[in-house]
Amino acid sequence: MTIITNHMPTAELQALDAAHHMHPFTNGNQLAAKGTRIITRAQGVMLTDSKGNEILDGMGGLWCVNIGYGRSELAEVAARQMRELPFYNTFFQTSHVPVIALSAKLAELAPGDLNHVFYAGSGSEANDTNIRMVRTYWAQMGEPARNIIISRRNAYHGSSMGSGSLGGMSGMHAQGGLPIPDIHHIDQPHWYAEGGDMDPEAFGLARARQLEEKIEELGPHRVAAFIGEPVQGAGGVIIPPDSYWPEIQRICDKYGILLIADEVICGFGRTGNWFGSQTMGIRPDIMTVAKGLSSGYAPIGGSIVSDRVAEVMNDCEFNHGYTYSGHPVSCAVALENLRILQEEKIVERVAQETAPYLKRKWESLCEHPLVGETRIVGMMGSLALTPHKASRAKFASEPGTAGYICRERCFANNLVMRHVGDRMIISPPLVISKSEIDLLIERAWMSLDQAEKQIRDEGLMKAAM
Ligand SMILES: *Cc1c(COP(=O)(O)O)cnc(C)c1O
Repeated sequence: MTIITNHMPTAELQALDAAHHMHPFTNGNQLAAKGTRIITRAQGVMLTDSKGNEILDGMGGLWCVNIGYGRSELAEVAARQMRELPFYNTFFQTSHVPVIALSAKLAELAPGDLNHVFYAGSGSEANDTNIRMVRTYWAQMGEPARNIIISRRNAYHGSSMGSGSLGGMSGMHAQGGLPIPDIHHIDQPHWYAEGGDMDPEAFGLARARQLEEKIEELGPHRVAAFIGEPVQGAGGVIIPPDSYWPEIQRICDKYGILLIADEVICGFGRTGNWFGSQTMGIRPDIMTVAKGLSSGYAPIGGSIVSDRVAEVMNDCEFNHGYTYSGHPVSCAVALENLRILQEEKIVERVAQETAPYLKRKWESLCEHPLVGETRIVGMMGSLALTPHKASRAKFASEPGTAGYICRERCFANNLVMRHVGDRMIISPPLVISKSEIDLLIERAWMSLDQAEKQIRDEGLMKAAM
């Protein structure tokens, strides 16, 4: 048996990592020069690294550890399932108990007539399923020309060829030949950065109406679906103005196009309801799920599909599937995660107690001289760094310079808070307590102070023209 011990000196682990491990979304040489931080254990909302630091995980892993770390119930369920039936496929007229139980549970939890689940191993794979599913749906309906999917710039829907194309990340589109054909993008509802002098609600309406303009431009008979995250996550926790989603829903209804809500981050309590679609008041035809579905304890994703779409899809053979579609261990772990979320009333506690508390504390960061705005819904929040509050100015330096300085201060202060450009973002485990929220805010404030000093010292406190 191979054992990678925790007792190796950190420097040796870092050297091995640099020699053999290629990290996602990372410049390998820069990281090798600096050395990775090696996480060895975690409990609740706290991580421990190989040097014994106790780090508050303000990102819930990667937006996914909703029930927090160290829940041994999930480990036990996984071990039991591995002994009983570690794997069986769902392709060849077979099924198994965990996938059946999870599907019924998701149909119960999901709003409206979202009663059917197609499984994947991740959010990216699930969005690839969605591309093929909505196009196949319209072909089955006798409208094969309806194959265009409209998404938004700065959206994140995954990293595969299909899901990366749905996403609107310019850095991703620049590598590897993305986007694939017949994916179009409209602008994002990001008032702080792009709203200019407009009132936020008028701006939200204007951004939603770009969907209608795009449909008219492409031809309504060509458009299959619109996809959006209820709240953009990786794009910078961008909470749209209230006017935005109802207008998107109206336009989808008017043209009869399918609405796909990418709930990979927003799902399973993140926004204070079970799904972000409920928080935003929309009725999607398909929801993409992953991340919080298993709280990250096992890889699993899926598309939760409405009766309308499932009826049509069930009438053909959909030539699509993954070896790990409905993996029994992942399904069993997800089911146990949902049991804990439900029985411990974690989503209700977020909505009634901890999210309102976090909101008050998070908004107090807006008093910091470096902070231009704070935004938060449920357990996902963001703040904008600025050299000049009143004008919402951007920094003159390369975007992300100030954000990176702040992130480095957070890291040094044992707080995981990410930056997206010059925005700082949090998405802590849903089980974070009030005293842990106090600690998060305390470390964030201290890091902002230090970042401000460094930004001034380096002469970077200058607004872009
Ligand atoms: C993370 C994410 C994905 C991709 O999920 P993976 O499991 O990383 O493939 C898709 N959509 C959204 C909104 C995400 O945040």
